[in-house]
Amino acid sequence: MALLASCSERPAAGPGTARPDAACPGCNVVLVSMDTVRADHLGCYGYSRDTSPSVDQLAAGSALFEQAVSQSPWTLPAHGSMMTGLQPRVLGVVRYPAMRRLPQSARMLAEEFKDAGYATGAFTGGGFVSAHFGFARGFDVYQADGRRFEHNMDGALDWLRLNQDRPFFLFLHGYNAHRPYYSSLADRRALGFGDLSRREASGFCGREKRERPANLDAIVSLYDASIRGGDRHVGRFLDELDKLGLADKTVVLVTSDHGEEFFEHGNCDHVRFVYAEVVNVPLVLRVPGLTDHGPRIKEPVSASISVPSTLLELVGVENSMPGPSLVGLLGAGAFDTASNRPTETPIYSEAGTAAGKLGSRGPVIAERRGSQKLVRYTDEDSNEAYDLGVDPGELNALPSRHGVYSWAAGLDEWAEANQLLDGKGQGRRNKAAKNDHEGSDEIPEELKQKLRDLGYVDP
Ligand SMILES: [Zn+2]
Repeated sequence: MALLASCSERPAAGPGTARPDAACPGCNVVLVSMDTVRADHLGCYGYSRDTSPSVDQLAAGSALFEQAVSQSPWTLPAHGSMMTGLQPRVLGVVRYPAMRRLPQSARMLAEEFKDAGYATGAFTGGGFVSAHFGFARGFDVYQADGRRFEHNMDGALDWLRLNQDRPFFLFLHGYNAHRPYYSSLADRRALGFGDLSRREASGFCGREKRERPANLDAIVSLYDASIRGGDRHVGRFLDELDKLGLADKTVVLVTSDHGEEFFEHGNCDHVRFVYAEVVNVPLVLRVPGLTDHGPRIKEPVSASISVPSTLLELVGVENSMPGPSLVGLLGAGAFDTASNRPTETPIYSEAGTAAGKLGSRGPVIAERRGSQKLVRYTDEDSNEAYDLGVDPGELNALPSRHGVYSWAAGLDEWAEANQLLDGKGQGRRNKAAKNDHEGSDEIPEELKQKLRDLGYVDP
C-alpha cells in the first residue's frame, strides 16, 4: 500500500531529464484504447475478416503481445488499472453497478507525464472513462464530446499539431465497438455484408433477454464492422503522426479494455464473466528503433496494469508506478534468460456483479499462470480450471483432480490481501485513502443518460 501514498515531494522534472539509457528517451507517447475489442477479432491476431487494416499495419512494425489479459471485463476498472497500474480490487472499483470513482490517492499515469514536462491530452468517449470517475487527473485537456473516435478526432488532431514541438502524452479512446454496434455502410461493404442493416443488432443483449438470438452471425458481423470503423479513425490519427514526422519519436500502444461475449459461455455483452472472449485483448506496442522487426511475444501478460510502467520506462521517465513493465520482453536478447520471462507471474482478472442478475454467477476472479487458468466464483465457492494450450476458448474444464484447482485457497488469500481502500482490509491501514470515494454515488443525470445509451443498466 506504500505505492498508494501521496507523492507530494517529487523532484522537479522536465523534458530533458529522461534517462538516456531508455529505449526511446524523451519520446512522445500515444495510448489508444479501442473499447470492447476482443483480440481474436483483429486481423493481426489471426481473424479471417479484414476488420483492422490500420492496426495491422501498425502491428507489422510493433511488438504484438499474443496473450494480453485485461484485469477486468468492464470499462471503468480496466481503464482504472491502465491509468494507475493497480488492480481494480485495490482501486475499489470492481463491483458493478457500484460505479465508484478512482481513489484520489492513486497516482495517475498522466500525472507522471505532466510532472516530467509532457503536454497531456485525452480525447475519449466519456461514459465510464469520463472526468467524473477521476480519469481527467493529470491531463491538460480532457475532451469527451461523443462516444466514438470520430467524435473527438478533430480535437485530438488539433491538439497534436499544437503540441508537436514538445514531448506529449495523448490518450485516445472510442466506443465504436461497444453496443449498440455502430457501423457505416462503407465498413459493412468492405467486409462483404453491405446488405446487413445496423437495425439487425438493435435490442441485442437487452435488459431481459440473455438467450442466443437466431441472427447471432449477423450481429457478430455488425460488431466486426464497428471494429473496422474504429480502426479507420485510429488509422487517420496514425497517418497524421506520420505526416507530421512524429512517428520516429513516438511510442504508440494500442489496446482494449475488454472484449465481448457472443454466447461462448451462455451470455452476451461483457461485465459479468472473465473468460477468454472478454479478457483477452489486443496489445500492440510500437517503439521506434526497437520493434521495427515486428516481434511476437507469446508469454501471457497482464494488459491493463502493465501500461503505466511500460510506457514510462520506454521513454525514460523515472517513476514509482506499480504494475509490471513489459520492456524486458522487448529488447534484443530479452528472451535469453528465464528471469526475463514473466510466465510464472500470476495474472488476475476480476468481475463483481450480483448473482442471478442478467445471467451473472456473482463475483468471479480468474488467475492465469502460463497456459493454465483458474476461474473461481467466490459466492458459489465453485471453480473451473482450463488449459488454454489445448483449449484456448476455455470450453472444457479440466477434471476436478487437476492441480490447478489447488490454486483456489491462494486466490482467496490474494483477494483478501488486496482488499481495498474502503474502510475494510488494507483501507484500515491507510486512513488517508479512507474517504477517497466520497461522493461517488452522485452521478450527474447527463452522464447517467450517456451510460444508458451505452446499454448499461441501472446507472
Ligand atoms: Zn469498455
